[in-house]
Amino acid sequence: MLSFWEKQSLLHYDMIIIGGGIVGLSTAMAIKEKAPKTRVLVLERGVLPTGASTKNAGFACTGSLTEIIDDLRIMKEDELLQLVALRQKGLQKLRKRLGDDKIGYAENGSWELINNSPEQTGAIGRIDEVNEKLKSVLGEKAFEAFTYSNKKADFGFDENNVKYIVRNNFEGELNSGMMMRALIDLCLTSGIEIKTGCEVSTIEEEQNTVNVIVKHNYLNEEISFSASKLGVCTNAFTRQLYPELDIKPGRGQVLITEPIPGLRFKGIYHFDKGYYYFRRLGDSVLFGGGRNIDFAGEETTLFEFNEKIRADLTDKLQHIILPGVKFKIADWWTGIMAFADTKFPILKQHSNRVSLAVRMGGMGVAMGSEIGENLAEMMLDI
Ligand SMILES: Cc1cc2nc3c(=O)[nH]c(=O)nc-3n(C[C@H](O)[C@H](O)[C@H](O)COP(=O)(O)OP(=O)(O)OC[C@H]3O[C@@H](n4cnc5c(N)ncnc54)[C@H](O)[C@@H]3O)c2cc1C
Repeated sequence: MLSFWEKQSLLHYDMIIIGGGIVGLSTAMAIKEKAPKTRVLVLERGVLPTGASTKNAGFACTGSLTEIIDDLRIMKEDELLQLVALRQKGLQKLRKRLGDDKIGYAENGSWELINNSPEQTGAIGRIDEVNEKLKSVLGEKAFEAFTYSNKKADFGFDENNVKYIVRNNFEGELNSGMMMRALIDLCLTSGIEIKTGCEVSTIEEEQNTVNVIVKHNYLNEEISFSASKLGVCTNAFTRQLYPELDIKPGRGQVLITEPIPGLRFKGIYHFDKGYYYFRRLGDSVLFGGGRNIDFAGEETTLFEFNEKIRADLTDKLQHIILPGVKFKIADWWTGIMAFADTKFPILKQHSNRVSLAVRMGGMGVAMGSEIGENLAEMMLDI
């Protein structure tokens, strides 16, 4: 049972955030930046953040050509521009808050591989149109296409699978581990408390307070933390708390190779509407994606492997990215994203004392800091 002292001094805060990923921590930081005296607590269920923020590919991206064209199929042009602006603003905020050195930010080139299917080559014909649309947000031309055979020496990809290569002038890369380390460190030095191993099971709203119930990790009892405002940043796992929300989990599989001598390419790469992504990391290749070959199987919050997708990634790595190159896969992992038919996140005041910022799709690294800023403003009523 809790002591008088614990009940008196360790359970009450001004603001509580549930979820210690990029959105939760960015929200906590934005609250502290705007209202430094606020007592802020972040509750994270894992010993480490256990969702997407420490499991992603670290692309600082605004969207590849075929992905943007696909988006234009499902949303209006002004919505797309809003989304691209959100990604760009988020990245600017992230870099400014943490510093490029601390997050390993670099711009070594961002490219998309285009094969010779009519759908893909058709995208090349739409570059000018897409550049023109994006100019109002990005200011300059985003995409430039090159015939791959003229560029082959720079990359070493398979010529049968790559017909064009499209440069994106607005994307960079970062180190997701360093980014989360820097964000956690900044939160701690700013006086934000982060408690890990705290899975919130229930939220109870009262007239003057909101209570957040967590199971004690050692004693067989529940602890109730309280605050005047609560921010929910639990992304793909939010339906455990709010089952009515329109959120579908989407798992992503990632591999990293052992160092490969003589790698030719650098920077970040996408193909197939952003469903596949790879990058050079030191002398290794990080490669992930493939959710599109088994959407149903990947609609899960379980951190397990999908053997069909692992086989597909291994095959594409050998035949498209590293033809004729011997490599060894050093490691695999999975992370869980959150999707819906729309690509917009849920950012809303849910009730008097509870606001939500969830469903970041595949672009939460890019959007997360801006969404956190918006949630902080909502919680602070500014
Ligand atoms: C393989 C992969 C590759 C990706 N690549 C990129 C990329 O290159 N660029 C990009 O912009 N985005 C990328 N993303 C997406 C990006 O990582 C996510 O959109 C982003 O990290 C979401 O951040 P978040 O804070 O909303 O969610 P999360 O990072 O998932 O954080 C939510 C946190 O809430 C915690 N939590 C959940 N329920 C509870 C509870 N009841 N109580 C307490 N805590 C709880 C979880 O443990 C978790 O730590 C990728 C994602 C994956 C999986």
